[in-house]
This record gives sequence, structure tokens and C-alpha cells, in this order.
Amino acid sequence: MNYVVRHKGYVTKKDRNILNKHDSGVIWFTGLSASGKSTIAHFIEKKLFNDGIRAYVFDGDNIRHGLNSNLGFSEQDRDENIRRIVEVAKLFVDAGIIVLASFITPLNSQRRFIKEKFKETKFVEIYVKCDVEECIRRDPKGLYKKAQQGIIKNYTGISAPFEEPENPDLVIDTQILTVEESASKVLKYLKEIDFLNFKN
Ligand code: ADP
Repeated sequence: MNYVVRHKGYVTKKDRNILNKHDSGVIWFTGLSASGKSTIAHFIEKKLFNDGIRAYVFDGDNIRHGLNSNLGFSEQDRDENIRRIVEVAKLFVDAGIIVLASFITPLNSQRRFIKEKFKETKFVEIYVKCDVEECIRRDPKGLYKKAQQGIIKNYTGISAPFEEPENPDLVIDTQILTVEESASKVLKYLKEIDFLNFKN
């Protein structure tokens, strides 16, 4: 018998969106480690903040230090990592916030799972595209090097798979675009699809 019953509050998501003067939703960045997901997400967060829009970056590394510190990189743990992130992101969306989710999300099955979970929510999937060779060259945290030496196991792009996204809403090629151009392209797209209800 399950005695857990949802408690419905007096303030709705819509009330919060009206107070904030913008919609809430999820912008999910997928791509290899070092492709530029977090750099772009933080750049956009700052731009939105300056425009009075409540946005918050969910970053793979930060979440793995806290909420998901008990999870590793096995397939099962990667799935649980995503499941928890999705559930927290849902709460943030309900709280009226734009979630900028920056996670490798290497498999199409995970991307499909995420999309399904947000089918009632404003949601876009952005593929931050960059060759693994270039990611290895960038290697901002020295993790590719450790993966190549076998010190880190199951590293996406080296010893774990990364499937090219099947159906992203937008592709940002960070080998062609600068950080500023990448962020501008995302913001332009969000405006085009009226993601934030900019008209309000
Ligand atoms: P990820 O979050 O995908 O692991 P990071 O944002 O942590 O990647 O690191 C990306 C690295 O690539 C940074 O050192 C950043 O300065 C560099 N970089 C070069 N060009 C771009 C670009 N167009 N967009 C984002 N990052 C870029």
C-alpha cells in the first residue's frame, strides 16, 4: 500500500510564469565532453539573467559532486543519473525557471527517455557538435588524457559510445562558431520558436 499522496499547492506553474513574465522549460545540451555544452550554457544563463529571465545551469560535473555523488559511470548508474536530473529539472520548471541542462547524454535511448519525460513541457534538444579529435585537443580538464591512459574507464568518446543525436532541434558546431556565436544562435532559435514567450 502506498500512502504517499501528492499535495497540491495554491500557486501554479502558470502563476509563477506570469509573475516572472516568461515561460519555464528545459534546454538540453547533448554532446561530447569538452564540446562546449557548459561554456555555452553558462554564457546563455548570464545573458538571460541580464534580461531579467530566471535561468539555471544544471551541469554534469556539479551534479555528480552533490545529488549524484553516489553514482558511477556504469550503464545503470548513467541511467539513474539522468533519471534524477530529469526529476529535479521538472521541479525547477514547475518553480518557473528555465533549466539549461548540460549533460553528455551519449545514447539515443536516453535522449528519447528525456524527451518523453518533458512532453508536457517546453523542451529543446541542442546538439553541441565537435569531433572527438578536437575535444581531445581541447581537453580542458585533462580527462581525455587519463581516459586514453586507461586511468579513467568508460569515458565517452574513448572507451564508451557516443551516438550522434538522431533528431536534435538545433545543432551548434563549436569547431566553426565562437562561444558568442554559439550562444547567439541558441538565443535566436529560442526567440524564433517563442520559447520564453518573449512577447509577454
Ligand atoms: P562540456 O561542457 O561540453 O564538457 P566545456 O564547456 O566544459 O565542455 O569545455 C569546452 C571547451 O572548449 C572550453 O575550454 C571552451 O573554452 C572551448 N571552446 C572552444 N570553442 C568553443 C565554442 N564555440 N563553444 C564552447 N566552447 C568552446
